[in-house]
Amino acid sequence: MPRRRILVTSALPYANGAIHLGHLVEYIQTDIWVRFQRMQGHEVHYVGADDTHGTPVMLRAESEGLTPEQLIERVWKEHDRDFKNFSVGFDNYYSTHSPENRALCEEIYGKLEQSGLITKRPVEQFYDPVKAMFLPDRFIKGECPKCGAKDQYGDSCEVCGATYSPTELKNPYSTVSGAEPVRKSSEHHFFKLSDPRCEGFLRRYTQGEGHLQSEAANKMKEWLGEAGEGKLSDWDISRDAPYFGFPIPGTDEKKFFYVWLDAPVGYFASFTHHVRSKKLGEHLLQDFLRPGSHTEMVHFIGKDILYFHALFWPAMLEHAGFRTPSKVFAHGFLTVNGEKMSKSRGTFITANSFIEQGLNPEWLRYYYAAKLGPTMEDIDLNLDDFVARVNSDLVGKFINILSRASGFVVKHFDGQLLEPTPDMQGKEVSWPATFRAIAAAEEAKEAYEGREYGKAMRAIMRHADRINELFDAAKPWELAKKNDAESRNLLHTVCSDCISGFKVLTYALAPILPVTSERIAKLLNLPLPLKWVNIDLPCKKTLPYEHLMTRVDAKQITALTEVNKESLKPAAPAPHSQQRHAQHQENAVEAATEPATISIDDFTKIDLRIARIANAEHVEGADKLLKLTLDVGELGTKQVFAGIKSAYDPATLVGRLTVVVANLAPRKMKFGMSEGMVLAASGDAPGLFILSPDSGAQPGMRVK
Ligand SMILES: [Zn+2]
Repeated sequence: MPRRRILVTSALPYANGAIHLGHLVEYIQTDIWVRFQRMQGHEVHYVGADDTHGTPVMLRAESEGLTPEQLIERVWKEHDRDFKNFSVGFDNYYSTHSPENRALCEEIYGKLEQSGLITKRPVEQFYDPVKAMFLPDRFIKGECPKCGAKDQYGDSCEVCGATYSPTELKNPYSTVSGAEPVRKSSEHHFFKLSDPRCEGFLRRYTQGEGHLQSEAANKMKEWLGEAGEGKLSDWDISRDAPYFGFPIPGTDEKKFFYVWLDAPVGYFASFTHHVRSKKLGEHLLQDFLRPGSHTEMVHFIGKDILYFHALFWPAMLEHAGFRTPSKVFAHGFLTVNGEKMSKSRGTFITANSFIEQGLNPEWLRYYYAAKLGPTMEDIDLNLDDFVARVNSDLVGKFINILSRASGFVVKHFDGQLLEPTPDMQGKEVSWPATFRAIAAAEEAKEAYEGREYGKAMRAIMRHADRINELFDAAKPWELAKKNDAESRNLLHTVCSDCISGFKVLTYALAPILPVTSERIAKLLNLPLPLKWVNIDLPCKKTLPYEHLMTRVDAKQITALTEVNKESLKPAAPAPHSQQRHAQHQENAVEAATEPATISIDDFTKIDLRIARIANAEHVEGADKLLKLTLDVGELGTKQVFAGIKSAYDPATLVGRLTVVVANLAPRKMKFGMSEGMVLAASGDAPGLFILSPDSGAQPGMRVK
């Protein structure tokens, strides 16, 4: 394969808060991909930056008695520390508040203006007369127009879930000054996304050449509508002073670029700074930022900011003389224990608290990898599963191989390892641990390239299991007691084979475990940095085993959620969604709002199955729950706790067929794990009614 040249980015975290485990899904996902591509020998530049502009930073700085520059400098240091702690290896971590970014924004804006793609028109918005500033939706509160709940934000009600525009709020007030906002008009600058040139380009860009995942391309199709439908509206790219950002040229510092205009340009600014500060050569800027070369640009983002990266950003670049993204990879959000991260439950876990509690960041890298796939599906960090999986896979399967085998080799053979002789090499019978490890690594390699990390981890751990079995089957502890040449040779061969297989798996896990793999490389005297081409270089000796990784203690997890509960403090204008990168999103983009209906794709995510209630029983101490054992045909049996005790005598349920949500994340309840949900109807009148299929349905059948 020719050497690829790739510029990789992760979305820019906003400069008014801490990095948390939700953010880390993306940074770890990107970093793994970057490390993998580097191991393949490709040229990779991985850049990031803090996203620094906008009203929230401005107000936060003011409330802390700082200038915005002081605030963003402090936050930058915290973010940089957190990324380093989790081995997220940016080649350059920068700031959008930089001279490079300002120059690039001005260039892009100038080119768009020359092309006739900038237009101006008045916009009426809420204005705080005391503070003398226009108010983003998130800074207006009032009573919900639907349910009347007090203190609801300007875009949605946290009590009844209604969404609306801030002008619909009753008795609105500014969260900045408390004053009643007035409506005021001002001239805004727009990028003419509705222009036929933009629309035509975006149709080609989003629907062809595989720039987007198929689910993302479909979403874009919805947003673009049919040709001629005129669904794309122009994008408001200006904000009025006071605003922390870059002034729009020619507006006397009265108008500023909206933070979402300059944030993605920050990728280019960071890359520019990376190239210039390290004197890599100006030609790299041409190669990577301008059209016409064979380089790639790959963005990793959260699905909530797809609209910005798949529409605005490429359209802007295309018409300003820059290259467009080769790939935009969107991922889902993180849930913890199956639920949104929550400060009151202590599951809003900051990156720094994870480190301070003495947890190993590579545990989290591994766990996320085991869960990550190429789609936009959410991933769940189940804390019990985290403990179980890290202990069983990383420590119990992987590390265990070396810790067991190297002792024999060091004690009996002075650390020297046998190598497969030419006639043995590739022979499964003689060196099965090594031989099949190469196949597992090949499988992992394919999976990494397609961001199917979960699949890669399964291939690797399956083989780690196999090596442990081979080791056990050979009973090396018995061979070691015998003194005949044959036993000694067999002992030496088995241990050498297992360590050599372990070495192959170490290469395959290196993108996930950069620190541990390097320590192993030193023990086994492997050439650093680990390159995939060296994966079958023979392993000649091992140093005495050193402790490589401890098990997770469940107490550490309890302590972790405890400290994150304690760190709860009333936040200044709290970002609405705790997951988002787009914390500064001001809901200026109406089209980005989720439609009230769902697509068939959303529905098919729910795996509904016919289940036979094999057993039903009361649960001691539970007022509402029955414990059901369900036979779900090909999916085996599942244990489910269902809140139907008030309506059913367990004995009458046994043998009945019903419908279960089979792919609900397992949930640990007080009485045990619940592995699904049984569907039941209920209304205002008392009574609960579980569903039954028509006769003929069999356990395991899909309901669709
Ligand atoms: Zn409401």
